[in-house]
Amino acid sequence: KAKDAGRNAYRFFSPEMDARAHQRLRLENDLRGAIARDELRLHYQPKLRVDNGQVSGVEALVRWMHPVEGLIPPDQFIPLAEETGLILDIGEWVLGEACRQLRRWRAAGHPDLCMAVNLSPRQLQRPGLDVTVLNALEAGGLPPASLELEITESSVMQEPEQALTLLRRLRAIGVRISIDDFGTGYTNFAYLRQLPLQRLKIDRSFIQHLADVDEDGVAPGATQDDVAIVEAIIAMAHKLRLNVLAEGVETEAQHERLSGLGCDEMQGFLHGRPMPADECERWMLDRLKKV
Ligand code: C2E
Ligand code: MG
Ligand code: MG
Ligand code: MG
Repeated sequence: KAKDAGRNAYRFFSPEMDARAHQRLRLENDLRGAIARDELRLHYQPKLRVDNGQVSGVEALVRWMHPVEGLIPPDQFIPLAEETGLILDIGEWVLGEACRQLRRWRAAGHPDLCMAVNLSPRQLQRPGLDVTVLNALEAGGLPPASLELEITESSVMQEPEQALTLLRRLRAIGVRISIDDFGTGYTNFAYLRQLPLQRLKIDRSFIQHLADVDEDGVAPGATQDDVAIVEAIIAMAHKLRLNVLAEGVETEAQHERLSGLGCDEMQGFLHGRPMPADECERWMLDRLKKV
């Protein structure tokens, strides 16, 4: 341990670390003005029902159109936004923009479409979040049940009491709440059962190897374990009257397996990637013709 710390301390002063610290600082400064300069974008990824193949909703995923770096994915700036508190403004912008887009879509041929928005830990520690959500819904003239908020196990566990109070208030408004990346956090069932949930989203890591087979067509042990885990999550979710969605479905084989296991909904590159609004709209119209 001491050795590790020593090595890290040394690395802290290395030129690469210095360059990285500078880049981080620059990114942070840029991010501060990103909303004002209108550089944030939302992409939308469809969610499909397994029983009839219909689109049940879309998930809004933020990107940053940086003037120099190009399109930056959320994994590269959400953590920074979270640390600096900028996530509060970004999160509010995301909610507002997602609701505006949902209103347009519901008015133009997709009257039952739902929108999912990801929430980060800081937002869940903010007592005013329910007011922000209510404002976004009212501005769009949207029924609360058309909005789904995705939270993670770890994001609620940072301030469990506060998060519980807030989520109960949000649920009372009528919005839906789901657990994202389910299975990867330190699941505390005693706590989770108190949350007013409607859905579990099984993390992509359990789906990835779900249909792997070797040359002889035999599923490796790790794959059998993943099948067991996914099966157990689906059974538990259904007994708790929760809808269950599989994330990161990339192949037909995974789709078939999940369908056989009784999964309710799917999301992944197989069905549709996250797309800008206009592209997503074309995708949905195409889909309506097919189903
Ligand atoms: P997430 O909410 O779990 O979103 C799923 C991520 O998996 C997305 O990455 C999506 O593009 C990717 N994905 C979807 N299907 C597939 C697939 O079949 N294969 C593979 N390999 N990947 C797939 P993305 O858009 O880069 O977002 C990453 C994470 O950033 C999100 O994970 C979410 O935690 C966070 N995030 C995105 N937008 C927001 C936001 O507006 N607010 C907050 N707080 N977090 C956000
Ligand atoms: Mg999500
Ligand atoms: Mg996820
Ligand atoms: Mg994730």
